[in-house]
Amino acid sequence: MPDFDAEAFRRDIHANPELASEVPRTAKRVADTLEAAGLDVTRNVGGHGVVASVGEGAADHAVLLRADMDALPITEKTGVAHESTIAGRHHGCGHDGHTTMLVAAGLRLAANPPMRRVHLMFQPDEENGRGAKAMIDDGLLERFPVSSAFGLHVMPGMAHGTLATASGPFCAFEENFEITLRGHGGHASMPDRLADPLVAGAELVSALQTVVSRNCDPRDHAVLSVTNFETDGARNVVPSTVRITGDCRGFEGRVADVIKKSMKRIATGIATAHGIEVDVRISRSFSPLNNNSEAVAQAAFAAKEAGLFIEVDTPRCGFSEDFAAILERVPGAFVLIGQGGEGRHGRPLHDPGFEFDDTLIPKGAAFWEALARSGI
Ligand SMILES: [Zn+2]
Ligand SMILES: [Zn+2]
Repeated sequence: MPDFDAEAFRRDIHANPELASEVPRTAKRVADTLEAAGLDVTRNVGGHGVVASVGEGAADHAVLLRADMDALPITEKTGVAHESTIAGRHHGCGHDGHTTMLVAAGLRLAANPPMRRVHLMFQPDEENGRGAKAMIDDGLLERFPVSSAFGLHVMPGMAHGTLATASGPFCAFEENFEITLRGHGGHASMPDRLADPLVAGAELVSALQTVVSRNCDPRDHAVLSVTNFETDGARNVVPSTVRITGDCRGFEGRVADVIKKSMKRIATGIATAHGIEVDVRISRSFSPLNNNSEAVAQAAFAAKEAGLFIEVDTPRCGFSEDFAAILERVPGAFVLIGQGGEGRHGRPLHDPGFEFDDTLIPKGAAFWEALARSGI
């Protein structure tokens, strides 16, 4: 598109980051740009979600291509001229780049429509794992039916401009737990008259380290981390309540079941031993992401068409991805695009010093375009 300055578009979004489900400015920029180019744009899908459609064809050949629009609640430390204008907000996961690559692809497709229906999905609230579900709950997959779906995420440290994916489990599930221990607190000088939840809580933190190491199959990948320990005690007061929170990850549903059962058994056992009460709550924030092998083959074909190298058997990722909610309902694949290891482009995702590399935009857009034109 001669009149689309992709770099300026990306840098404008970068300088004006929006958080979670509140991404009205970014969504409007995306929708206005694609509507002006002639795409069929639907706004406010599940909040500020946008769907831009192009090409004609039956639903059983239609494809969904997805980008995310939200930033992170951290303060940017890149020092670039187009640095975030808002303290406490930073596009530290490259979603400004994902959005721009998909807009650039949409403009290419508008200029020369594909031989099938292509829906470009721009979702809010990826970081909290709620945006895809909000769009699904608003009828995304009924209003824009597709037979396959693809997502693309930038990856620092991976060779610049190369793609990587793999069939099967690819991104981890994430479940958060909150364990509340309730005893009877009081004067620190009279522990014999109390039911101390703090001593039980300390024992529980240690015991939780055995949930993975003594209960999960060693061939499975699983992580459990206790991340916070709060009490209502004071310098000279034994607490009545202890709250322990944390998160666990893995790739298979059965791993989640084993973790849940073990955690409840251990927490109940320790509480009983100390004569106190316990309440264990576990909630899922991200589903495991599974790539379909045919979709991986389609991605490999599109990468070659776009002149990009793709690794189709790359090791799976330890992080979680909201795109899993789409892949629970539609076969598809999640693909990584490398941006090398130099300077701010090589900083890890979610780092205050990380920034998306603009030179990836034409490569990502070419991959999206090839994917839209393939699989018919
Ligand atoms: Zn992220
Ligand atoms: Zn991300």
